[in-house]
Amino acid sequence: MRLNSKTRFIIKLLIIGLVLIVLYLFFWGRLNFMCPWLIGFDKIETESSVIYYHKGEVDLRKFPKVDSLIVKVENFHNLKFQRKVQIVISSNIKEHRRFNGHDVKFVTQPFWGRVYILYSREYFETKAGALCSYLQHELSHSIINQNITNSKLTGYPLWFLEGIATYSSQMLGHDGYPPLDTVRQRILRGYVINPVDWGTFGMAAKGKTVNTYPLNDLYKYAYSEFAFIVDDLIEKYGKPKLISLLHLSLNDQKFDIAFRSIYKIEFKDYFRTLINVEKLPPTRGH
Ligand SMILES: [Zn+2]
Repeated sequence: MRLNSKTRFIIKLLIIGLVLIVLYLFFWGRLNFMCPWLIGFDKIETESSVIYYHKGEVDLRKFPKVDSLIVKVENFHNLKFQRKVQIVISSNIKEHRRFNGHDVKFVTQPFWGRVYILYSREYFETKAGALCSYLQHELSHSIINQNITNSKLTGYPLWFLEGIATYSSQMLGHDGYPPLDTVRQRILRGYVINPVDWGTFGMAAKGKTVNTYPLNDLYKYAYSEFAFIVDDLIEKYGKPKLISLLHLSLNDQKFDIAFRSIYKIEFKDYFRTLINVEKLPPTRGH
């Protein structure tokens, strides 16, 4: 079939339009996380990071010392960053939303493990401690994203990523994240979020226990509960096993299989035992 010249012209126009849209998304939009370049930003380079920001709009005087946080994060995860950590600080919500597709202030994307932060005076000027914890939390995601293949990341349980990030950045008890004892009390009262209901990377489907959680701090509580599980695994079995679980599930095995081979119990059985009130460990301070 021969296309007439008008049809050919329209097809060419559509292809050019499509290419322009993809280029726009790659440089300035939702695909930027795969783009090696950040256009239109000033930058500061440290030994282990590159910070992209807008001069005159972002006050970096109280910004955490990224290099020392990176050392902490590498030590906790017993992993190395494969490349310098890129941190992109947007000073307006439109730009941040353009890159991430939503308004969450701290986001880490796959591929380069690039961290996107929405600038706010509240955190950058008056809540420097919380900013430091949030950045360390994102660096946990970043180091994992740099050490996992994209196909393995898809399907990885989100609860474990959030639990390990929240635990390692010591966010519990700060900025609205319930401390361990509060988590324990809520579990005793039946406010349990089943980690499986939190979904997997790329499929953040929210299951029943998420949809029926009755209080208004769903995200902060969920992250604290997931950190509570990480804390329990460390208390019961030791940190080396937790790190073995992390490494095994990043490289060789699916998370549930890695969990079973490290702890000799299915995750769902371990979790059922954990939330069983009779079997809860005695309260310990934290
Ligand atoms: Zn997170």
